[in-house]
Amino acid sequence: MDLPSSGKGILFVISGPSGVGKTSIIRSVLERVENVVFSISCTTRKQRPGEIHGMDYFFVSHQEFESMINENKFIEWAKVHDNYYGTPANFVFDHINNGIDVILDIDVQGALNVKKNLTGGKFVFVAPPSYQTLSERLRRRGTESEEKIQKRLDTAKKELSCIPEFEYLIINEDLEHSIMNLISIIYAERLRYERQKETERVKRLLLEVQ
Ligand code: 5GP
Repeated sequence: MDLPSSGKGILFVISGPSGVGKTSIIRSVLERVENVVFSISCTTRKQRPGEIHGMDYFFVSHQEFESMINENKFIEWAKVHDNYYGTPANFVFDHINNGIDVILDIDVQGALNVKKNLTGGKFVFVAPPSYQTLSERLRRRGTESEEKIQKRLDTAKKELSCIPEFEYLIINEDLEHSIMNLISIIYAERLRYERQKETERVKRLLLEVQ
């Protein structure tokens, strides 16, 4: 399926290993950039302290998640570290069709599935400055057991090898810098002539000089 290249919203798929800082970057970008929304995923994972149902995730049971898969309600879904995560399709397509950009925060296998099924998405990989930094960050977060952290690090190694499949790469060394980088990507994509050519302003301007 092709996403619209002009006159509609843009789909930004932000991916990278867990613990790399994607969520913090995205949160700030949403506060600073107009006309962009965050796609709230469904997950079967347990709610962490401080997380809000319907804001961070829709926390659902395995049974509910499976029904949603069978009803084709996801653009993509994946099993990440023993839990299921999925991107609800309606929300994404409704916003894109209404000219509003959508940001997904999903794991690497999910992002590669979106890339396979939807042309026109913009794919951004967020990487740690080094593998060592990622390991330290995951431990500092303190939300997972040592065994789970080890599992996440093994997955991260495989995920980092997928960097070349992405169009954009942000190395998250400094949060503020990474926020500015993601904002730059969003504005650069919005400023493409291809994106603007159907707007009244551009059509009028070109007519004036014919
Ligand atoms: P966490 O459990 O730490 O919130 O997220 C674990 C991983 O799942 C992160 O890499 C996050 O980006 C990813 N994730 C969150 N929502 C989705 C989704 O809808 N689909 C996929 N494929 N991954 C997701």
